[in-house]
Amino acid sequence: MRAGGGFERRLKGVPVSPGIAVGVLRVEARGCPSPIVRSILPTEMESEWARFESALARTEEELHSLKARVEHLSGANEAAIFDAHLLFLRDRTVLSRLRKEMPKRMQNIDSVYYAVVQNFMEVMRHVDDPYLRSRVVDIEDVLQRVLKNMAPSETAPLCGDCTEPCVLAAYDLTPSDTADLDPRKVQGFVTEAGSAVSHTAILARSLGMPAVVGVPNLLIDSRVGCKCILDGYSGCLILNPSEETEQHYRELQAEKERAYSALVDMKDLPAETTDGRRIRLAANVEFAHEYTAIQRSGAEGVGLFRTEFFLLGGGSLPDEEAQYLHYRKLVESCNPQEVIFRTLDSGGDKLPFEVLEEKEDNPFLGWRGIRVSLSRVEIFKEQLRAVLRASAHGKVGIMFPMVSGITEVKDVNALLDECRAELRERGQAYDENMRVGIMIEVPSAAMMADVLARHVDFFSIGTNDLTQYTIAVDRVNFRVASMFRPTHPGVIRLMHQTIAAGKPTAVCGEMGGDINLVPLLVGLGVAELSVGAHLLPVVRYAIRHLNYKECRAMAEEALQAEDSYTIRNLSSDMARRCYPDLFR
Ligand code: PEP
Ligand code: MG
Repeated sequence: MRAGGGFERRLKGVPVSPGIAVGVLRVEARGCPSPIVRSILPTEMESEWARFESALARTEEELHSLKARVEHLSGANEAAIFDAHLLFLRDRTVLSRLRKEMPKRMQNIDSVYYAVVQNFMEVMRHVDDPYLRSRVVDIEDVLQRVLKNMAPSETAPLCGDCTEPCVLAAYDLTPSDTADLDPRKVQGFVTEAGSAVSHTAILARSLGMPAVVGVPNLLIDSRVGCKCILDGYSGCLILNPSEETEQHYRELQAEKERAYSALVDMKDLPAETTDGRRIRLAANVEFAHEYTAIQRSGAEGVGLFRTEFFLLGGGSLPDEEAQYLHYRKLVESCNPQEVIFRTLDSGGDKLPFEVLEEKEDNPFLGWRGIRVSLSRVEIFKEQLRAVLRASAHGKVGIMFPMVSGITEVKDVNALLDECRAELRERGQAYDENMRVGIMIEVPSAAMMADVLARHVDFFSIGTNDLTQYTIAVDRVNFRVASMFRPTHPGVIRLMHQTIAAGKPTAVCGEMGGDINLVPLLVGLGVAELSVGAHLLPVVRYAIRHLNYKECRAMAEEALQAEDSYTIRNLSSDMARRCYPDLFR
């Protein structure tokens, strides 16, 4: 047992961002389907009731305005359902049960209200009357509204009030929650939900913040305020670590840092196989301030600049001038290396472009990527002109996300031409030879690669989405995370078909940073890998220990394989043979 109390306990999850974080555990309810239970003092009782009363009042207002809107759009009959909601909101049975339970339990009121309503729904599910049974969904609806109105503001940065280094535990985090974390306060985070290819995990890696996802029962097993260590290498959260465990982690951290700086020392060596095949090794960037890390890693430019975090992260959309200045800064600092800007890719699990009144049922198949840009042409053209103008200050490429076919490519090319003409008219400079490419992340685009190749200069394969859309596995749903396999033969064949179209082809999805799969990508004939800055030294080392001819033969075999395990093993066996030291 530790001096501070409590035995050491280990919770296991999936490591998604390497590193070791040490701090006190901070538990946040954001994203959690049920409220976190917390004990309260008798002195807090009054403020808990006040919080509940104001949530009821806010919910009442919302229900009245929803009723009015539905009445206006669809008629009084359809709107009557909200009368039932309003009645349930002030239901005497529920409220008197809550009054009895609060002094008995002495817990935060949202958790007690949740328990009381859950009991009520359980009773309703067993009544004989089918009409009453069917009302359970309405009760659930009211419950969620009240809970939402009791929750702290969804926009305040998480752990903003922390006074000591902490490890954040949450049910789930959105990419915008993650982007707002202050690394001086939050040393790492751990979630119950989540997946390795979610944008939350991608951002953790670019922030250099250790992260673990998919820890079952995390919020039940966590002890708020206890000391903990988060191991982003093995995916372990250690609560109340013993003195020996702490010592072990201090040594592990020092050893990892030593090994990493040895790789960084080789940053100026070319990413070239032993038989002379040169691969361009570029960085994925989410925030312009990452440039120091990019330089340290020896990147040959930026292969994917995810502009959505800059465009949508600040509350209001930056105009053309603000974008131009921002892009220009990055282009100048990378000069003479190329920076490839990917135009806005909102939607999916990322921030919506507009706060839609209704959430989309299938956001990844909905209003996302190029679809948004092409339906907001004036805003899209501001981004195109800003990138074109930045191209006058260095080497720039532009590419478009979530392209599904030729019409979108022709549309964006026509808009680019319009923007070039407008800039000429304004007398503003741009590079006539700026490369134009598309991301290959929708299977239809991969199948049509030979046709699309006639209209663009390059392809960049987004394996995160290509995998998601090819196997129909939601990339952020942890229930199907084990099915998310970029080495699925369907995905590999689509990649092969894309490369066979003959355009310079990069891979910028997370697959490119997996050292087990680098031999396969090299063998498939990928010309460029673009990966998170911290992975660059590792991937360079891997490439320098591979033989291109052997990789090609292995990729040929992989293209004949029947399942994802065989393909992964073929590549991983070669990786372990050629650079065993990276697996220690
Ligand atoms: C991808 O889909 O692989 C990709 C690089 O884009 P994003 O992860 O931003 O969707
Ligand atoms: Mg994508």
